[in-house]
Amino acid sequence: MVHIRSKTWAALTAVLVWAAPVSSAQALEIFACEPEWAALAKVLAPQAKITAATHARQDPHHIEARPALIGAMRRADLAVCTGASLEVGWLPMLQQRAGNPKVRDGRDGMFYAASAVQLIDVHERVDRSMGDVHAEGNPHFHLDPRRLKQVAAALAERLARIDAAHAADYRSRYRDWALDWDRRLQNWEQKAHPLSGRAVVAQHSSFAYLWGWLGVEQIADLEPKPGVPPTVSHLQQVLKQVQGAKPMAVVQTLYQDPQAGRWLVERVPVPLLTLPSTVTAEAPASELPALFDTLIDALLQSARSNAPR
Ligand SMILES: [Zn+2]
Repeated sequence: MVHIRSKTWAALTAVLVWAAPVSSAQALEIFACEPEWAALAKVLAPQAKITAATHARQDPHHIEARPALIGAMRRADLAVCTGASLEVGWLPMLQQRAGNPKVRDGRDGMFYAASAVQLIDVHERVDRSMGDVHAEGNPHFHLDPRRLKQVAAALAERLARIDAAHAADYRSRYRDWALDWDRRLQNWEQKAHPLSGRAVVAQHSSFAYLWGWLGVEQIADLEPKPGVPPTVSHLQQVLKQVQGAKPMAVVQTLYQDPQAGRWLVERVPVPLLTLPSTVTAEAPASELPALFDTLIDALLQSARSNAPR
């Protein structure tokens, strides 16, 4: 008995000794809940193996906990998610099914971007009559490039903590990225100046942070209540609001049903813009800088062709 035990122990030690250098050379596995965090993780940890749970044509509020995602979560050293209950419908189930202690809430391996920023539209009290409202505040903050930078700084520190051997690399990559980002931020703000004070109609609060950053006013929401699909009676009210205000565009994301937007633009001379709300698999918006370039260019084009009265 003792003999077998010591033999097993010897075998185990051998495995550990052999495994140690391999695991330190092994790429970090990162599970990103949304494509914007996958893109950011790729900038800070280019060697990492990154899985994005959702893509630009999927609604990040609602996805299925598919086996492939459970597998990726099981292997993850770090999960990077939005938080603020954006993923409340699927992430807890994924964490539970994956059974990976590293990515449990409260562990260093579970990074919630929302913890690095201040959210807008925080509700003190929420009840059912308000619809599917985000009680902790609007979680679609990645479309504010200033908040995105705050997330990048916090994510770099988290990477430095969980992979201490490469801490200096994560920090220096963040510094390089932040310098470049600041330059872009200045250019975007200059370029987008004509958008300030302009009005839009949009669906949900998906672009609220973008509007806030650019000084654009969302005068109506195609959703009657947050998370509740548009209805004809609600759209008729929106139509009345819009007729006098002349918004520069009706804006929807790639994952929202275009029906409501189409209904509206058939009745008012305003263009319907279907814009990516995150990085997409296809160029040009396949990386974060290009996403903001794409959004600003599309909005500027609408603003020019729909001058205010
Ligand atoms: Zn939302």
